[in-house]
Amino acid sequence: MRQPALDAALVSLLACALWLGNAGEISARKVESDVPQRVDDLQSLEVKAEPINDFIYKIEGEGAMFLINTREGSVLVDTGVASEQSADQKQAVRELATGPIRKIVVTHAHADHAGGLPAWQEEIDAGAEFIGHHRYAYMARLQDEPLPYFKRRFHVLYPTRVSLEDEPPRPYWNMRPAREVYPGSDYEFELGGVRFVVIAPENGGEGEDGILLWLPESRVLFTGDLFGTLYPMFPNLYTVRGEKYRDPLDYVDALDLVLELKPEVIAHTHFRVIEGEEYIRESVTRMRDAVQYVWDETVKGMNAGKTVWELMRDIQLPEHLQLSQGHGKVSWSVRATWEIIAGWYYYDTIANLYHVPPTAIHRDVVEMVGGADALAARARTYLAKGQPLEAIRLLDIAAGNETKAVLNARIEAVEKLIAEAKSGLSNYSEIGLLEADLRASRQLLAGR
Ligand SMILES: [Zn+2]
Repeated sequence: MRQPALDAALVSLLACALWLGNAGEISARKVESDVPQRVDDLQSLEVKAEPINDFIYKIEGEGAMFLINTREGSVLVDTGVASEQSADQKQAVRELATGPIRKIVVTHAHADHAGGLPAWQEEIDAGAEFIGHHRYAYMARLQDEPLPYFKRRFHVLYPTRVSLEDEPPRPYWNMRPAREVYPGSDYEFELGGVRFVVIAPENGGEGEDGILLWLPESRVLFTGDLFGTLYPMFPNLYTVRGEKYRDPLDYVDALDLVLELKPEVIAHTHFRVIEGEEYIRESVTRMRDAVQYVWDETVKGMNAGKTVWELMRDIQLPEHLQLSQGHGKVSWSVRATWEIIAGWYYYDTIANLYHVPPTAIHRDVVEMVGGADALAARARTYLAKGQPLEAIRLLDIAAGNETKAVLNARIEAVEKLIAEAKSGLSNYSEIGLLEADLRASRQLLAGR
């Protein structure tokens, strides 16, 4: 690994200074423009230590971790991913820690935060206290038990990073925090003259087990994935990767909690360290108000008798609440909000109360129209009108019976959607899924 060299520290400070210098004028759009690279970059970061101030370091990696030094030992925040990086991150901590590891705060049970936990078993056995949200064990079960199912989904989205091979159990999901922190009951401790407050929001960020670590004297807040990958962004209230919906009302409460603290620094796992009380207040307020807006508009639309599809199309953030949708996406959050409120039955057709799927009669439709090529021809009329989504719906009817014409029309429709996604919101997951669909069609076509 690279040593925490002076130039790295300078680069980091310079980056912060540039960020701060522009903070007042940075619009969401400016942040949006570099989103695709950023989310990609965040998944291939090398291990590198950078100071945040004179006693806190960020140890960069696919999942970053933080080291907080005091004169009576050190505190870790998060543990990175379970990979070769664990050893490099641990080595960096060894070089920079001014004393034994006394506490290990794991912000939530995601693999890029808790994955490196087993590398610290020795320190835990020697008395380091593993601190987590009381929902850590619950969220770990939700990821661990359906893992084969989830891996098939992850593989579509991250084909080079997630293999379909069987893997040994992930021990960090069976490790239970020695100290479980509950909402409304902060865990406060003092170490070497530094005060620490561990706060458990009801449902903070990417999972019900998100916790925050607050250093009141230096006004640094460690947020794990409360803010997701980018900053500021519309939160990922539904990740298409697959996970339980994240509750918008609880998220608003968690952001209010952050605003009450008035942090000067947000030690953010997946993005730059964010600095500046005023900028943080303004950007967190915008995120909170944007989520509240989407909630309000969804409820209003439901009460007015709109369909979920209409609301996915119509609800847009107003100009003053614009945020990056590079990770979280408003239309998907609208649907998640709807389903949090009402569940999966839309009162659209009683057929959905039973087990026969819409696809059960697709073969009949193909036969009735005289073959899949007729669907492709009609799909092309939609493509000509600039309506690739209608084209995709038609072509879906031919799934399993694709002809060359169907595949070529589909490729054209999906290419159009990819171009729109890239020049529009640049949502990382949307682009990833569209590209996976495109690869599948090309593969099928190559086999014809
Ligand atoms: Zn993360």
